[in-house]
Amino acid sequence: MSLRFTLLCLVMLSVRVGAQSPDVGVNGARLNATMQHMHTFGENADGGSDRVAYSIHNRVALEYLSELMRETGLVPRFDVAGNLVGHRTGRIEGLAPILAGSHIDTVPNGGHYDGIVGVMSAIEAARTLKENGIELDHPLEVVVWSNEEGGKTGSRSWAGTVQERELDLPSLGDKTLGEGMAYIGGEPKNLARNTRRPGDVAGYIELHVEQGAILDRQGIAIGVVEGIVGIKRWYITVRGFANHAGTTPMDQRQDALYATALMLTEIRRIITGESGRQVGTVGRLDVNPGAPNVIPGEVLFSLEIRDLSMEKVTRLFVQIERSLSDIALMNDVEVSFDQYYESPETPTDIGIQNLVRESAAALGLSSFDMPSGAGHDGQSMKGIAPLGMIFVPSKDGVSHAPTEFTSEEQIINGANVLLRTIIGMDQLLK
Ligand SMILES: [Zn+2]
Repeated sequence: MSLRFTLLCLVMLSVRVGAQSPDVGVNGARLNATMQHMHTFGENADGGSDRVAYSIHNRVALEYLSELMRETGLVPRFDVAGNLVGHRTGRIEGLAPILAGSHIDTVPNGGHYDGIVGVMSAIEAARTLKENGIELDHPLEVVVWSNEEGGKTGSRSWAGTVQERELDLPSLGDKTLGEGMAYIGGEPKNLARNTRRPGDVAGYIELHVEQGAILDRQGIAIGVVEGIVGIKRWYITVRGFANHAGTTPMDQRQDALYATALMLTEIRRIITGESGRQVGTVGRLDVNPGAPNVIPGEVLFSLEIRDLSMEKVTRLFVQIERSLSDIALMNDVEVSFDQYYESPETPTDIGIQNLVRESAAALGLSSFDMPSGAGHDGQSMKGIAPLGMIFVPSKDGVSHAPTEFTSEEQIINGANVLLRTIIGMDQLLK
């Protein structure tokens, strides 16, 4: 009987929480006021933000956020990598925390939304829970990751993938990574303490601006992120023969640049030749010797392919490799391929995707399933905890620039979806 009674109580409790959440919403005016206040930390003459990681502006902004966390019922502390973590106790002892956050460091002359939207919304969500007397079973931690723009150092320290030698590398500011971490309250010598194991975190959710124009162009409020794309990069070298541009007849040339031009067209054809959201880019081209009166003898160019499926990235590359080799043969040049970078894809959790989609629908907001073409801190949660990401629109897809913009209403929409998703995760992730 008592077990049945306990179960009944639990059912009633979950119904109560479920029924409560539709009426709960963030204080939008307050959220946007804190967003505006963040402008003051490192705003430059162009109206952009120079709050690079480990700068004085970064440090002062973190002090402000620590204070704000205290006001909102979160207990702040800096971990050994200089990540700021605000902790709220959960109702059930022994459960791992639900983590919500993003970053506040910017690129030099960056914008006021990339990362900041996620941090300020997570703090506002925690504050809304407190004000409405909603307790979660799990502890809730709002995290401000350090140095996202300079290599995701803060979040990678949780994954245990920051190498000791990296601490001597320069950051985007005037300090090394190690000096920078210490400057904002970390202990770089003890970085290994940050390493999390699977189960140490119950789940991670990040609200972020899209940094592309898909949501903005289609007028969609919320992006349900299906995952962060995998990336592979190659250098491709085409070798011909450098010879006199005036005396070598057209049918006797081994023109590396002409062959490359045909190859670039072929790469575009292969990448766009099948359905899906894969992207391929040739972003660098070095022509040698690079003189107007010399037939180009050698060309080096880069190739990058991104997709949610690494298998697809590899398959497209195999097609490109075969096709480019044929072009080389037909044009009497040689081609070689050198892969130099690989970052595997990070899928998001299907259950959290559903929560984001349902939260948007319950608020009457449109949503769209999409990959993230850019990297994010959430990648570091791979293998540690289920991951979710919510996107809000970026005006004209502009990011990493002073003109980066997401409207107050769009931020409020994102924050409300984040709040509901956190409440949903509390039930889902047990
Ligand atoms: Zn970001």
